[in-house]
Amino acid sequence: MVIELQPLTPHVWVYPYDPKETQPNIGVIVTPTQTVLIDAGNSPRHARRVLAELWRIDAPLVTHIIYTHYHWDHTFGAQIFNGTIIAHERCHDLLTANYFGRPWSTSYIQDEMQQNPARAGVLRAMERAVESWRGFRVVLPQVMFSRQMALHLDGVTLNLRHVGGKHSEDSITVEVVEDKVLFIGDSYYEPPVFLRQPGDHVDTEMIEGFLAQEMNWYVEGHHTPLDHKDAAAALEAMKGDA
Ligand SMILES: [Zn+2]
Repeated sequence: MVIELQPLTPHVWVYPYDPKETQPNIGVIVTPTQTVLIDAGNSPRHARRVLAELWRIDAPLVTHIIYTHYHWDHTFGAQIFNGTIIAHERCHDLLTANYFGRPWSTSYIQDEMQQNPARAGVLRAMERAVESWRGFRVVLPQVMFSRQMALHLDGVTLNLRHVGGKHSEDSITVEVVEDKVLFIGDSYYEPPVFLRQPGDHVDTEMIEGFLAQEMNWYVEGHHTPLDHKDAAAALEAMKGDA
């Protein structure tokens, strides 16, 4: 299946997620002179596919990349782009503690699997996504904030807010104010599989907070974008399951 950039609202496009490849949605915000990415893809290969699509729609050069949180599938494509990377301050520490500056290679992955068998599934998914570790590097954020931050780009306003949560304590949301789109990353999800404890569940209270913002669209990491009505219905279904 060919994955193409999908238009959502006047300034927002989404490069759709692919669960088979652990590939999250990549948000693309296009203004007359700038392009902002929400997350960088799970690998240089994924990022290059997004880049090819940006050329196809004639988007301006990527000026900013916003990491919704530090997890590899949202950050490992960053080296392909030149834009300024923005994230929560804890994202910098978590990238440093988990991924930055490691001797990434197939043998490093093998060693990690032996030392931490619970992470084997994640490490295998990384290996599949990245294909070749030659020249691979993790890129740390260059601009950080603690609670919130706004970007004003050619008349388009982006509000970045720290929401934290159990999935990853550095999770943020990105609101595209004029388009009424909220990118929520993986913020309300359970912790990653290898860290999950019995009783962990999705954070429905957090979703209620997002719905209270009355957006037209909600874009999460690993699901199709939902309009307000469908997002509210999805929340009810989740509560029913609990
Ligand atoms: Zn995640």
